[in-house]
Amino acid sequence: MMPPLQFSQISKIPLELVMSLFIVGFILYYASLLLRKKRRKEREAAKEKYKEEQKLERIERYKLQIEARENRKKNRRQQLKSRLIPSFLSPKKYRNIWNENASEKTNPAPENLKNELYFERANQRCEWCEEWVDTPEIHHIIPRSEGGINTAENLIVLCPNCHRKADRGVLSRSKLEYKLNRQMEKWSTISEQS
Ligand SMILES: [Zn+2]
Repeated sequence: MMPPLQFSQISKIPLELVMSLFIVGFILYYASLLLRKKRRKEREAAKEKYKEEQKLERIERYKLQIEARENRKKNRRQQLKSRLIPSFLSPKKYRNIWNENASEKTNPAPENLKNELYFERANQRCEWCEEWVDTPEIHHIIPRSEGGINTAENLIVLCPNCHRKADRGVLSRSKLEYKLNRQMEKWSTISEQS
């Protein structure tokens, strides 16, 4: 058993030791306070940042929603516009929607001319690839939109495949013209013989 501390013994502890212990303790306490304060500040800053980010995100999402809504509205409006009778503000568009042939200056080739070219000159073959064709298509070398006329010299019998190529310009006009000239020459010699 330790004997209880006597006042005489306490008084023996040097005052300097007590003071220095007190000071050290105080410094430690103060340091911990500062540290805690700093941590709290950091936490608060992080929280603020998070809130700010959330806010920005919300705004961004809202903006996108508005944009999407606007786009939907615009699309609907355009659909309606193109479906309804178009206004006088866009007569050209109007013509193209309601009458695809409005831009053509000449009429389609007459049936009897088409048949004559198909049976007599082309011999039921495509005049470009010379394949036998039972769904002939008549191509205007100078197109109808440019006022190309319906004469044997401007019409060439093509299979659907070659017609697509001719329309897309894969087969050039000059090549088609050359081929057609040959056809015309052949045709005229045949009709002379008969
Ligand atoms: Zn062909």
